[in-house]
Amino acid sequence: MPKVKVVSENCGQCGLCVGTRPDVFEFDDEGRARAIKDEIDDELGFECPFGAIEVE
Ligand code: SF4
Repeated sequence: MPKVKVVSENCGQCGLCVGTRPDVFEFDDEGRARAIKDEIDDELGFECPFGAIEVE
C-alpha cells in the first residue's frame, strides 16, 4: 500500500489535503497538516501545491 507523509515545514496551510481527504490528514495545533495514517489503500487524488506531501 502507498505510504503517505507530510513534510510539515513545507506545508503552506492551504487546507487542500484536509478538505479533500479528511480520512488521511488533519491540522496540527500550528495549522500545518499532518497525516493521521501512515498508509493509504488508494490514490490521494490531488497533489499538494507546496510539495509537502510525499507518497511512495
Ligand atoms: S495540501 Fe499541502 S500545503 Fe495544503 S494543507 Fe495540505 S500539506 Fe499543507
